[in-house]
Amino acid sequence: MKLIMKFGGTSVQNAESVRRAVDIVYERYSRQDRLAVVVSARRGVTDRLIACAESMVTSRDADEVADLVTYLTEGHLTTLKEVAPDFYPETSEIIIRRIENLRDFLHAVYHLRELTVRSRDYITSFGERLNAPLISAAFRQRGIPSMVLDGCEAGILTTENHGDAIALPAGEARIRSRLEPVIEHSVPVITGFMGCTEKGVVTTLGRSGSDYSATIVGAALDADEIWIWTDVDGIMTTDPRMVPEARVIPRISYIEVMELSYFGAKVMHSRSIEPAMQKGIPVLVKNANNPGYPGTVIDGGEKKDSRVVKAITYIDKVAAVTITGAQMVGRPGVARHIFSLLAEHQINVMMISQGSSEANITLVIEANQVALAMEALSPLKERCVFRDITANEDVSAVAVVGSGMAGMAGTAGRTFSALGKAGINVMMITQGSSEVNISFIVRQQDGPRAVKVLHDEFNLMNDEG
Ligand code: ADP
Ligand code: ASP
Ligand code: MG
Repeated sequence: MKLIMKFGGTSVQNAESVRRAVDIVYERYSRQDRLAVVVSARRGVTDRLIACAESMVTSRDADEVADLVTYLTEGHLTTLKEVAPDFYPETSEIIIRRIENLRDFLHAVYHLRELTVRSRDYITSFGERLNAPLISAAFRQRGIPSMVLDGCEAGILTTENHGDAIALPAGEARIRSRLEPVIEHSVPVITGFMGCTEKGVVTTLGRSGSDYSATIVGAALDADEIWIWTDVDGIMTTDPRMVPEARVIPRISYIEVMELSYFGAKVMHSRSIEPAMQKGIPVLVKNANNPGYPGTVIDGGEKKDSRVVKAITYIDKVAAVTITGAQMVGRPGVARHIFSLLAEHQINVMMISQGSSEANITLVIEANQVALAMEALSPLKERCVFRDITANEDVSAVAVVGSGMAGMAGTAGRTFSALGKAGINVMMITQGSSEVNISFIVRQQDGPRAVKVLHDEFNLMNDEG
């Protein structure tokens, strides 16, 4: 069997979890599976890298670099010594050299007072680049032949949109030619989250991007399966941190997971399903702390499911931008103008609703893009294409997801009457044309309760629908 395994930040954060990851890989290696492993940064490292890089230009406290260096050195080397004592000398040297390289780069950002999107990607890629040598050494310590490849060396080619890059099809042949020979005799450890442009500039694939790295590699290698190891038993009916009764979904379709992750379920990166879906490769989501549990299988969903609604997801903070003005009524092309301006500014529109009177259009966007959206649309206001533009930033987005909704009457009715009974005011509603989700926005303070009410309404805590 050809398998890609991805270990998330919590599954490789200390010696104990690294040993568990090694056990998991060893088990498949000894069955003669061909394997490639994708690793994330240790838990919390990417956040620290971003915070330090930003403070070089904001608070400009150069001591933060020294703190970061200590944190990275102690964390990685302590674990390394425990999990790979025989390989400590050469591996610690690699890690120390990389940390020095990072330190010098952060100092350059400090002196230049400029953090470009390129520099930011280069800096954030260090989380994975420090962890991969450690994991690979732990494999060797257990007798598994292994080598390290960064995302670029592994052949992951991406677009140039830094911080949220997309894999290019041209990378596929490159990944194949670089990895196929390697997996015949060893288990490569590939740094997740990172790729590079045609010119070799480092890019990152967006937060949680290691999931995406795993499916890009899996699709290129025509893997039999892709296994995502994380810290929960699988994809659940909702975020278990919010609703403790949330239950693991044994089987779910690619489309449903895409909708879930797009609407905030952090368990998978939103773009990571696409490569697997294109090749029809099953993705398994499993708990590295409980590897015997079957987890969730994501596949084409050919088998019909009796459940209409599979899961509820939510994004805690979004913004609703409302454009109003009678000038828009019956005037063709207004929406085109609005969307092309937003696209030019790289603003992603998550939801759209337009009243039938056409006197207003509401768009839901990421909360941190409000100022940019206002600026992007101001030329239209100046040209009197509309009268006013307002933003409400006290908003959460909720989505009810399930492919059984398609063609089944009544889900929307049940959703909104349950919310009505609970006294939750729905500010805007959209239903995707795929009919796999119904999404809506509520006041931020009502978000968690809306999720709980719907989880109860659709009886998601029980195995039987
Ligand atoms: P990793 O570091 O392994 O990539 P993440 O923290 O990115 O892990 O994702 C796993 C977390 O996603 C879980 O701990 C859980 O709290 C959260 N989560 C949110 N929504 C869901 C969901 N529907 N099913 C499972 N986990 C979810
Ligand atoms: N380390 C990156 C992040 O924290 C990518 C990942 O963990 O998947 O977002
Ligand atoms: Mg993740």
